[in-house]
Amino acid sequence: FDWLEAPSLRAVMDALGAAGEARFVGGCVRDSLLGRPPSPMGGAGTTDIDVATTLTPEETTAALTSAGLAAHPTGIEHGTVTAVSGGLPVEVTTLRADVATDGRHAEVAFTRDWDQDWRRRDFRLNALYLGADGQLFDPAGGLEDLRARRVRFIGDADTRIAEDYLRILRFFRFTARYAEAPDEEGLAACARGADGLRRLSKERIWQETAKLFAAPRAPEAFEAMAKTGILARVLEAPAETDAFAALHRLLHADVPPALGIEALWPTAPREALQRAFKPATAVLDRIEVAREAGADLTLDQNAGLARQLYRFGAEAVTDASLLEAARTGETAWLDHANLAATVPVPILPIQGRDLIARGLEPGLALGRTLKAIEAAWLSAGCPEDEETIEEIVEEVLG
Ligand code: ATP
Ligand code: MG
Repeated sequence: FDWLEAPSLRAVMDALGAAGEARFVGGCVRDSLLGRPPSPMGGAGTTDIDVATTLTPEETTAALTSAGLAAHPTGIEHGTVTAVSGGLPVEVTTLRADVATDGRHAEVAFTRDWDQDWRRRDFRLNALYLGADGQLFDPAGGLEDLRARRVRFIGDADTRIAEDYLRILRFFRFTARYAEAPDEEGLAACARGADGLRRLSKERIWQETAKLFAAPRAPEAFEAMAKTGILARVLEAPAETDAFAALHRLLHADVPPALGIEALWPTAPREALQRAFKPATAVLDRIEVAREAGADLTLDQNAGLARQLYRFGAEAVTDASLLEAARTGETAWLDHANLAATVPVPILPIQGRDLIARGLEPGLALGRTLKAIEAAWLSAGCPEDEETIEEIVEEVLG
């Protein structure tokens, strides 16, 4: 835990410690135990620094500001205050206890009791706490699970899932990241609770699914989700877990969500995707262009590639080629993807003002002429040399 020594972190922990108790918790403790420091401290992943405290949000803010540190109320309804110390953000959250649940999310109340705080957390390995002095608190047996590479619910899995159905997706996300295989008991409980996923907001489903695509054992997780009928609750369309597994191998685990969705649900209608993943508009747009590029895809590396790049852009042609590589297993598509990502996108060398300079009147007819030149230039494979371009223009102008 070298990062505990960082003066900016010490400042936060000293300020909180002077007024109450504070411990690091969650991903930063869990991943440090595996030798991966949190990302703000130079680690590779995206783990932020979370701190749990006995102080209320108001007390937290007061303690931080009187120590000369910035305190931003970033999630006040959850009791979260973001401390900024020497440029380093630290999420400070008041201890909480589950009080009531509706399955959409657990309703929580602030508490000063560490015992209540760990009991409402989802998995044993997510309830590891670390004092500023390096003392580890492991009330739920998280270390044992971390070592054995198991992800187990805290308490009765069925009950914990019924409190907040998002925990089903979190089970698969953490399993895909930390475990060899899904815990049988947890898996069975997730399958029993699958219907409850319908009650979650699209935003929460999307956030968890997006993170699952990047996990090291995401293909196995999606496979298990498909077998237990859970994937069908996320998107009511048949999933192709084999194509996703192939794509995952090609990309070495870092699958952009748009590609992940398209590999899993290649035939899902746009409306179905929109219903399931509505908050991810940019991702849905990326899928749509990749589909258009995919419909027009050829392995022609010269004229064909230039045309595709001009029409759909580098990202879409790369995406479509990768998906094709995953689907067919043909390495030629990988080369095509590489080319698409590196070859410059052609730019139409003739513009309206060039035609006006040649004496054409501005207006609709000029627009049509420009379209005709574009079409001729495209079918010639987007040539760049002036002579060929001139020939094309003259041919069209007649
Ligand atoms: P990551 O590295 O992905 O951020 P994390 O463990 O920090 O992992 P977060 O989603 O940031 O995951 O949540 C922080 C902590 O809050 C978790 O470790 C867990 O203890 C608790 N937690 C988050 N969401 C839930 C939930 N839906 N139910 C119960 N506990 C939760
Ligand atoms: Mg986190």
